[in-house]
Amino acid sequence: MPTHPEKLFCRIAVDRGYITAAELDRCLEFQRQSRIRKHVGSIMKILGFVTPVQFQEIMALQKRLTFEESTGAEKRKHDRTFGFLCIKRGFMTEEQVIECVREQAHCERVGLYFKLGEICVNKGYLTGANVDDVLELQKRLVFECPECRARYNAVNYEPRAIVACTECGADIEVPGVLDTISSRKP
Ligand SMILES: [Zn+2]
Repeated sequence: MPTHPEKLFCRIAVDRGYITAAELDRCLEFQRQSRIRKHVGSIMKILGFVTPVQFQEIMALQKRLTFEESTGAEKRKHDRTFGFLCIKRGFMTEEQVIECVREQAHCERVGLYFKLGEICVNKGYLTGANVDDVLELQKRLVFECPECRARYNAVNYEPRAIVACTECGADIEVPGVLDTISSRKP
């Protein structure tokens, strides 16, 4: 079976017209039959469907797309926590956060990326000091497994609970950061 990045590689190769669907099938069959597993792109080279230059080109594009995919998800996760903490902290109402998230999505559609905090400041809901406060809090929410250093976000757990690391099974204590947040209702 091709891996996720390999599937992306195949899609790019077909999209660019370097290889037909039938030729791709031959490459995947070759991969299944090989005793030593080879990258599907190397097989395309071996069978003469793509040149080394084309291979490099597809590889570069595939890496960029994979990177953008993962950083996009990270940013969204970061923004979700940021919005959640603004509400917890009493800086903003849920409606205001939703409004800012919509505004952010709107900007992104026209090719402008703003951090959620920037949008909130722009709308006059947060001061720069509020943003610093929430970002500082956000940093303290990250905790690590003492055994394998896997990272978790306290937002997803009960404060001070003991949870099992999903990577190695070790016991980890969730920090009590969320406990200590004073909710100053506006
Ligand atoms: Zn662990």
